[in-house]
Amino acid sequence: MPSFKIDIVTAERIVYSEDVDEVVAPGVSGQLGILPHHAPLMTTLEAGELVVRKGGQEEIMAISGGFLEVRPDHVIVLADQAERAEEIDISRADEARKRAEDRLKVKQTGMDALRAEAALRRALVRLSVAEKLRRRRKV
Ligand code: ATP
Repeated sequence: MPSFKIDIVTAERIVYSEDVDEVVAPGVSGQLGILPHHAPLMTTLEAGELVVRKGGQEEIMAISGGFLEVRPDHVIVLADQAERAEEIDISRADEARKRAEDRLKVKQTGMDALRAEAALRRALVRLSVAEKLRRRRKV
């Protein structure tokens, strides 16, 4: 089966760089599936789960938004933040979730509300990705 290279990078580090069979990324208008020979594309990503599939194995990562470019045989993700499932600190994400929920309980307006909503979304994505890994390890 043909594969293609994906590089997932942040300003700080290379998070993932492998040849894969398929990528599903959190596009702004829904889940974006990329298979080999996908047409060239540039798009914005929102906070969500990014899945890569390779040789029947699947890996899930948490992405907090960014850009995705599809080139011939190469996909590049420039992420604001990204963590592989096993890198996620669950207690930290849970603390971040509580902080954001507390901020949203107090009536917030404008940027403060948007920031708290974005922080909540990042935390929930991290918790969901970590939970999926935990369940998979139990099976
Ligand atoms: P927090 O409120 O917990 O700091 P955040 O989304 O605001 O969450 P930042 O402080 O901007 O995160 O992130 C700094 C670095 O820490 C980034 O490299 C990010 O990938 C990483 N990071 C953030 N939260 C977690 C987590 N729960 N587990 C592992 N790495 C994390």
